[in-house]
Amino acid sequence: MALKTILRYLPAKSTQINNEPSRRMHFYKTPALLKSLTKKLYWDIKGGDRDIYLTFDDGPIPGLTEYILDMLDAYAAKATFFCVGDNVRKYPEIAKNTILRGHRLGNHTFNHVKGWQSSSVAYLDNIKKCQHYIDLYQPVSEPAIFRPPYGQITPGQIALLSTEYHIIMWDVLAYDFEKKHNAQKSLDKILSKTGPGSIVVFHDNYKAEEKLKYMLPRFLSHFKEKGFNFKKIGQ
Ligand SMILES: [Zn+2]
Repeated sequence: MALKTILRYLPAKSTQINNEPSRRMHFYKTPALLKSLTKKLYWDIKGGDRDIYLTFDDGPIPGLTEYILDMLDAYAAKATFFCVGDNVRKYPEIAKNTILRGHRLGNHTFNHVKGWQSSSVAYLDNIKKCQHYIDLYQPVSEPAIFRPPYGQITPGQIALLSTEYHIIMWDVLAYDFEKKHNAQKSLDKILSKTGPGSIVVFHDNYKAEEKLKYMLPRFLSHFKEKGFNFKKIGQ
């Protein structure tokens, strides 16, 4: 099966098996088969048996990013923020504050670009532009980390990027952006699907704000009580 076909089954925002909303498939947990077929991508991080890697996509944005930072501090948690470069350009103080408070910024393209709809040259340029803004504020790390918007990335783009970037996907997706989902049900799902080494995705965007504010504190509290640590990628 071609990688692109496999990636269509990703738990991405765009994943949709047909056009009927009631029959959409949602993967809170990335299927093991998909992970095993795409070894150049990071889906989870093996290491400590009590570590969880929280990630927040799409920020920084005023208000919500600060809320997330305060919540992380309350639980002594560190996390990774996959930033849209244009948001780093617009809100440098929030980006700097995120780093000062001990978290890591990752690259999420400059304009939240869909990999499947971009030429590799245009895609790489957009990613480099994002990295430029991140590198203004964060000590440069080799390799940098990158997450493709919507989980969309072609095999050619993976090959080009993986020399300079670790491409970070996810093990568990919160569906905090999904208006039709019930926040408590989504929370129950991700509590049951998260385990040692899980990379978990929440969203630092206004579309997800209401659900994130319900789910995140409860998620942190649940795993803190179980003795888990929350680490940033590379920590
Ligand atoms: Zn995104």
